[in-house]
Amino acid sequence: MKAVLNILVRTLLAYGALAAGLYSLWLIFARLSTVDPKALGWAPSSSEGRAPLVVIDPGHGGHDRGAAAHDLVEKQAALDIARRVKARLENAGVQVRMTREDDKFLALEERARVANDLQAAAFVSLHLNTSAGNDAPADGIETFFTCSKSLGTVKLIRAQSNIPPNVGVRDNRGRNLAEVIQRIVCSRTGAENRGVKERDYTVIHRTACPSVLVECGFMTDAVEAARLKRDDYRDRLAAGIADGVRAFLCAQSLKPDRGLELSPPKTQPASMDLVAGP
Ligand SMILES: [Zn+2]
Repeated sequence: MKAVLNILVRTLLAYGALAAGLYSLWLIFARLSTVDPKALGWAPSSSEGRAPLVVIDPGHGGHDRGAAAHDLVEKQAALDIARRVKARLENAGVQVRMTREDDKFLALEERARVANDLQAAAFVSLHLNTSAGNDAPADGIETFFTCSKSLGTVKLIRAQSNIPPNVGVRDNRGRNLAEVIQRIVCSRTGAENRGVKERDYTVIHRTACPSVLVECGFMTDAVEAARLKRDDYRDRLAAGIADGVRAFLCAQSLKPDRGLELSPPKTQPASMDLVAGP
């Protein structure tokens, strides 16, 4: 009897996980562009036949060590987690480039340029968080995105996505990527879910592809710092981030214009010739 119950419970759990997965995918597809792209003369470029390339950006490096607490140094932990994300993505057939492979300094603009030059499908910057001084003690994971890109970046987005000139562009793809990574990484790690937040960090403000910055946990929290030092926890963090990226790429490959919100070009005021009667 106990064995039968065991099997029943396991089956229910398996179906529950499947339903949750399908629901997540449905949520991704539900966030669609609000203007019909065809009506604006937009034919989204197809990435068919090309293996997607993802740029992983381990924060800080060289003389910029980032923050440090509880024997953790941000630049080292970020690089180690990034290597694990890279390995998982490559195992899944995704091409990966890192902005830095070792302990070297790289300016923020250069990190964005790596993704732009490679025409990456996604950009993920990895950091670790701190709360100090007058901040309330904090723990957990949060993911940042921005919908407002620099002017030069908007130009690149137009060029890469075949968007006609003068058509307004709002880029919500980073938000989509942030939401799916945040959801999966928190469920994989059990960390406090601090949500997704919009902020114009340079590395995501200047990247033309969907881009996010993941704060993988608070080094200043003794309990979270102890977890962040463990190999198995770093593996779970990396698995959550990699699975989030893959879910995003999958949804994006089916609908390349997903998340790019277009608005009609501003019309010129009607000339007097047109308004005046015969
Ligand atoms: Zn940082």
